[in-house]
Amino acid sequence: MQKVRTTLSRCMAVLIIGILTWSTLTVLPQDAKGLTISTIAPSSPHLANTDEICDPEAITIRMNGIPYTYHTSVSNSNQLPALKPLATTSKASAPSVPKGLKVVSIGDGRLDVQWNKNPETDLKHYRLAYKPAGGSYKSVFTSGTSYSLTGLTNGKKYTLKVKAINQAGEESSYCSFVYATPTSSNSDVQVKTLAAGTKYATSMYVINSGKPGPVVMVVGGVHGNEKAGYTAARKISQYKISRGTLLVIPEANQLAIKANRRAAKGYSDLNRSFPQSASQAPKTVLAKAIYGAIKDYDVDWLIDLHEGYDYYKNPKTSSVGQTLIYYPANSTKTTAQAIVNDLNRGISSSIKKFSLLRYPVKGSLARAAGQYLGVRAMIFETCDNPSLSVRVGYHVQAVNKLLSTLNMR
Ligand SMILES: [Zn+2]
Repeated sequence: MQKVRTTLSRCMAVLIIGILTWSTLTVLPQDAKGLTISTIAPSSPHLANTDEICDPEAITIRMNGIPYTYHTSVSNSNQLPALKPLATTSKASAPSVPKGLKVVSIGDGRLDVQWNKNPETDLKHYRLAYKPAGGSYKSVFTSGTSYSLTGLTNGKKYTLKVKAINQAGEESSYCSFVYATPTSSNSDVQVKTLAAGTKYATSMYVINSGKPGPVVMVVGGVHGNEKAGYTAARKISQYKISRGTLLVIPEANQLAIKANRRAAKGYSDLNRSFPQSASQAPKTVLAKAIYGAIKDYDVDWLIDLHEGYDYYKNPKTSSVGQTLIYYPANSTKTTAQAIVNDLNRGISSSIKKFSLLRYPVKGSLARAAGQYLGVRAMIFETCDNPSLSVRVGYHVQAVNKLLSTLNMR
C-alpha cells in the first residue's frame, strides 16, 4: 500500500512536469475516508511517456471491502483535483478483540461457549475457531455471543478462540485461547483405585457434572458389617449430577466387608484410624488413601454412611442408630438439620425418628475431615432393626437431600 502511494506521487510529479495530455480522476469521492487502493491498471501507451505503472488511466480502489474500478478521462487540464484524497487515505479501524470467552457447559460431543458483546456498532459477526488436539481449525460465524459446538470428539482437548469482524470485513485479532474437553455421559464417571496395589485397594467413583459446584464425598463400608451404608453407596455411585463433583467410595473397607465384621480380624477399626490432631498422619494405608483423596479433590462436604444396632432414642442403649452426627463448622448444622427433618417427615414412631448430634468421635473420618481439613462433615447412622430396603432407603434419602440442598441433583 505504501509502495503504491509512493509510486503514485512520484509518477504524478513526472506527469505534471512533462505533460502532454492529462488524466483526471474525477470520480473519486472527496472525503474518501477508508479508501485503500489495491491495484493500478496497466498504463495506456498513448499517455505520457513516463513510468508505466504510474499511469492512472484506470485504478481499482477498495471501499468497505468492495473493489471499484475507476476509469479516468483524458483532458488538457493542468489540475489534479481528484488525487488529493489519495494522500489522506487511511484504513478504517478494525473491531476490538472479543473478551470473556469461556466454556459454560460441557456435554456429549458438545461444548457451549460464550463471550462478551463487542462495543462496536458496525459489527457484522464473530468467527469462532476450534480445533481438537492434533487436528486443524474449523470455524463458525455467528452474530450472537454464544454458540453450541456439537459433533465434537469426546475426550479430545479442544482449543477455542474468537475474533470480531465488522461490516467492512475488517477483523480483530483472535482472543486468548480457551481449552475444554467434551465428555459423553458415560465418561463423566471415572473409577479410581485408592490404595492401589495393596490388599486394601478400593474403588472411588469420580462423577463430574462438567459444571462448577461443590465437591461432595459419600463413603460407605468403613465398617464391614453395616450393610445398608455400602448398599446405598453402591447405588449412589451410579448417580448423575447437575453441577459440581460427586466422589463415592462405596465399599471403603474391602477386607471388613468380606469378613462381614466391623474390622477384619487382626486389623484396626478404620473409623479410629484418622488423625486426632492437625499434625498427626492417618494410621493405616487405607486411612491414608481416603484422607489423601479428600485433600486431592478439595472436598467440601462429606457424608459417611454407618449403622447402629439400636435406636438412639431407646434409653436402654447407647447406640447411635437413627442419628446424623455433624462436625460443627460453617453451615453444616443447617444442612444436617434439613436432612433430619426431611427423614423424620416420613417416620411416625417417635423412637424411630432421627436425632441431630454433634461431634463425630475422635479418630473418625468425619471428625478428622471436619476438624483438620475444613470439610463440612457428618456421619449418618441408621438403626439396623428395620429391613435392609428400608434402611438403604434412609441412606439414599439422606444423601439425596444433601445433594438437592446443594443444587447438585
Ligand atoms: Zn459404623
